[in-house]
Amino acid sequence: MQRVDTKSLIESVARAVIAATERLTALDQAIGDGDHGLNMRRGFDAVMADLDGLARKPLPDAIKGVGTHLVMKVGGASGPLYGTLFLTLGKELPAEPDLAGIAKAFDAAFNAVKGRGKSDVGQKTMLDVLGPVRDALPGLAGDPHWPDRLKRIATEAAEATVPMKAIRGRASFLGDRSIGHMDPGACSSALMIAAVADSLEGVAA
Ligand code: ADP
Ligand code: MG
Repeated sequence: MQRVDTKSLIESVARAVIAATERLTALDQAIGDGDHGLNMRRGFDAVMADLDGLARKPLPDAIKGVGTHLVMKVGGASGPLYGTLFLTLGKELPAEPDLAGIAKAFDAAFNAVKGRGKSDVGQKTMLDVLGPVRDALPGLAGDPHWPDRLKRIATEAAEATVPMKAIRGRASFLGDRSIGHMDPGACSSALMIAAVADSLEGVAA
């Protein structure tokens, strides 16, 4: 696999999250307390402020660095969970990963988030995007269009949270009234995965 450009990868994820602040706010206003957009924005503003510092590090350390910023800045339920996701990815990724290496690290990161959240797929959370992505990654090896497929899987998985009833996180307090809205964390996960896929476009599987 061609070398991943650390700076453009992190920057594209940060910009995607920051650009979606209002959308994430609106989703969390519908089934939560309305802070998901600003929580995520705070975290990724800190990432952007440290972009050059992060980009000087080897890829795994840079991703760990993103996780540290998120743990310190995001807050809410999603801060520790996304912090865990990025810290575990950074710990597990080799310096120059191929798709198989990414799949293995993502599997570990998904399991770490699940443990931290005491949650699982099917409860209308970020795990309903991260889980399908984890499941799909090993099968994408060898497909030149893997970034596109990955993006579609994440986007459809976020859409699939709309008819679900929340049974973890703040939205679960609404019971049946959580049905009919996309989960905010599923949305932020999907747009981060889409940004990663976009910035890895052209990288061979
Ligand atoms: P808070 O719920 O504390 O206001 P945020 O609004 O930033 O925090 O994040 C809400 C998102 O966090 C939810 O949409 C959901 O995807 C995710 N989330 C909350 N609790 C859990 C959990 N136990 N496991 C996995 N994801 C969770
Ligand atoms: Mg919230």
